[in-house]
Amino acid sequence: MLFSGRRRKLGANPQTEVYTQSLQFYGQPPLENISLSEFETFAVERLKLLKTVENVGVSYVKQSEQYSKKLENELKNLNFPYRSDTQDDRKSQSGPSETEKRRKDYISHFILRLAYCQTEDLRRWFIQQEVDLFRYRFNQLDSKQKLEFLHRNNLQYEAISSKEKKDLQDKLVNSSYAVSGITVETCDFYKLTARSLPAVHSDERLQPLLNHLSHAYVGQDYSIQKNVGKISLEQIDSLSGKSFPLCMRQLHQSLRENHHLRHGGRMQYGLFLKGIGLSLEQALQFWRSEFVKGKVDADKFDKAYAYSVRHMFGKEGRRADYTPYSCMKLILSNPPSQGDYHGCPFRHSDPELLKQKLQFYKVSPGGISQILELVKGMHFQLACQKYFELTHNVEDASFSLSHPNQYFIESQKVLGGVKDTKRETDTSEHSVARGSTAAREAANSSQHSAEMTEDLDSYFKDA
Ligand code: SF4
Repeated sequence: MLFSGRRRKLGANPQTEVYTQSLQFYGQPPLENISLSEFETFAVERLKLLKTVENVGVSYVKQSEQYSKKLENELKNLNFPYRSDTQDDRKSQSGPSETEKRRKDYISHFILRLAYCQTEDLRRWFIQQEVDLFRYRFNQLDSKQKLEFLHRNNLQYEAISSKEKKDLQDKLVNSSYAVSGITVETCDFYKLTARSLPAVHSDERLQPLLNHLSHAYVGQDYSIQKNVGKISLEQIDSLSGKSFPLCMRQLHQSLRENHHLRHGGRMQYGLFLKGIGLSLEQALQFWRSEFVKGKVDADKFDKAYAYSVRHMFGKEGRRADYTPYSCMKLILSNPPSQGDYHGCPFRHSDPELLKQKLQFYKVSPGGISQILELVKGMHFQLACQKYFELTHNVEDASFSLSHPNQYFIESQKVLGGVKDTKRETDTSEHSVARGSTAAREAANSSQHSAEMTEDLDSYFKDA
C-alpha cells in the first residue's frame, strides 16, 4: 500500500478486479495509492465495524437469525458490503456503490491489521472479530458461491514448521481459543503481519496513527469541562455508588479507606473527576482533605501534591488540557501492581476478587455469572456495560461503552441527575463525526500527547 496526498482514481486502478467480490480473503495487500485522509477514515470506520461485530456477537447467538439480521443492518449502516451479490454495482442515490464499499472493506482490513498486530492481546481481539465477520459473510454465500470462493483463494499461507510450533507451543495455546496442548500438534499456524512492521515503523506518518488506533478510542475526549462547578464535593460519595464505573468506584473507595492513592490511581481518578466537572479549587480541596487524614500533612500536600493537581488542570508546566483516560488506555497500558488500584477491574482483577467486589456491590448472582462470562471471553467493556445495565436496571444500555466519563454521563441520563444535554445528545454523533478526524489528530498529536503524559506522570510520582 502506498500513501500519498492524493487519491488515485478508482477506475485507473488495476486492483479494481479485486473489488468485484463481496467476500475477501485479503490475500494480497492493496497496491494502489491512498491518501492519508482516506487512510484515516477507513481505519476508524473498520474499527467501528469490528466493535459492532464484537457487540452483536455477545448479545445474540452467533449465526442465529437475529444475529445475522442485526449484523446485516449494522453493515448496511456503516456502508460495508454485506451481500453475496457480486453483480450489483449500482451507486445508490444516498451512498457509495458496491465497488466502493468493497474497496473500503479491503483496504481498511489491512490498515487495522497493521494497527492490531503489535501485541498478543490486540492480535487476539482483532482476529476474533475478523473471523466472526468472515464467518458471517461466508455463511451468506450459497453453496456455489462458497465453492467459487474456495477455488478462487488457494489459501497459500506460510505455515510455521514443526520445530517452530514446538518452540512456540505455550504461546500458540495461549493465543488460540480452540487449541490445547494436545491439539496444537495437529493444527497449522501461519506467520502473521507483525513481520511487516519494521517497514511501517520507518514511515513516521503512520506509526503514531497505528499506535493510536490500536488503543482504539475514537470517541469524545472529555477534556473540555462544561459542568464545571455543578458537582459539589459532598455529592461525590453518593455519585461514586450510583454513577461511577467500577474502575472509579474502586479508586474512590480506596482513597476514602487509605487516604492515599499512588500516582497511577491519582492520574486516573483525578482526570476522571476533572472530566465530570470538578473545578481546580474543588480538586485541590478534595485531594488535600483526604490526604491530610492519612500520613500527609497540609504543608507536605501543598509542597508535594498541589502542583501536580494544578498541572493536571493545565495551570502549570506546559499548561496542557489533559484528557481523562479512555477504557482502552486503562485496559491496555500500565497494569496495576501490588498496592495499586488503577486500571480496569474487569481486565486486571482476579476473577474471584472481581466476583467478591460485585457481590459486595449487590449485583445478583445471575448478573455476576453473565459478567464473568464476558470477562472470560475478554470482552471487558461489554462486561462493564452489563454491570451498568444491572446496576441501573435497564435491559439494553443502548450505547457502546468506550470511556469511564461516558459511563458517568450515561448513568446520569438514566438517573436524571446532573445534565449537560448538548454533550449527552452529541455523544454518539460526535463520536462518529470525530471518527473521521480522530486518526488525523492522532497522527499530529499522539507523539506530543505521549510526551505530555510522561511529563505529567513525572509530577505525580510519590516523593
Ligand atoms: Fe472503567 Fe472502562 Fe473498565 Fe468500565 S470498562 S471499569 S469504564 S476502564
